[in-house]
Amino acid sequence: MLEASRRWRLERRSIGLVPTMGALHAGHLSLVDAARRENDVVVASAFVNPIQFGPGEDFERYPRDPERDAALFAQAEVDAIYRPATDAMYSSGASTRVHVTGVSEPLEGAARPGHFEGVGTVVTKLFAAVEPDRAYFGQKDAQQVAVVKRLAADIDLGVEIRVCPTVREADGLALSSRNAYLDAAERRAAVCLSRALGLAAEAYGRGERNPARLQAILSEAIEAEPLARLEYAEVVDPATFAAGGSLAVLAILIGKTRLIDNHDLKLPYPG
Ligand code: AMP
Repeated sequence: MLEASRRWRLERRSIGLVPTMGALHAGHLSLVDAARRENDVVVASAFVNPIQFGPGEDFERYPRDPERDAALFAQAEVDAIYRPATDAMYSSGASTRVHVTGVSEPLEGAARPGHFEGVGTVVTKLFAAVEPDRAYFGQKDAQQVAVVKRLAADIDLGVEIRVCPTVREADGLALSSRNAYLDAAERRAAVCLSRALGLAAEAYGRGERNPARLQAILSEAIEAEPLARLEYAEVVDPATFAAGGSLAVLAILIGKTRLIDNHDLKLPYPG
């Protein structure tokens, strides 16, 4: 794969990179479609990055199906798949971590210590290996987007960060590889995330700007669902993740499954 991308660079063909952890769904494939529209060639990576999982998180049981991933990437006309082995990615003795200050610290950063260092490190390594012109990320992981944009701007990687809208199920649940952990009752309960965001967007549309009121609307909608436990409900600035912007962000637990979602309240809620 790396030889192909070296050749493409020499041929001055533009390269779009789509980083994933595999276990593909239509959200991932929407990133591939965007990359295809905007670049000569598309490289997709599939790497379950151990250093972005904390102790006790789901690294071991994270869904893995390389054959299905390869077939779906081929169908989506990906030109090359980059699937590094873990010990090739992190040789023994590797001790460098890429830490983005500020935006990586609240919310997901506080709930998952070390997570964004893992993300920053792997994204830097993927960018160094593939040297893409553009890299594609999903709005679904809004804080990851903010961290990666900060990283790319701060260390002059010369990679344009492109952000694609969240792909949702018909009932509003954002697609996620972790949805596979939900049983039928939990799956029905998970719709409280998009319901909460819809209610907050409706209130914002009616002129509600008080962050405490908006947060109360979000948390009440989660608390109305008996199977869900609220971890956080905040309204933040989408670039800095400081309090007080228009991006509503949610994290909940349903059983053992942790789910996140977000919506910019300035935009009409889809569905
Ligand atoms: P993951 O494999 O979960 O690390 O996700 C790989 C990329 O796909 C990340 O940039 C995610 O934000 C993006 N992604 C995940 N779910 C969705 C979705 N429902 N819609 C759009 N992009 C998504």
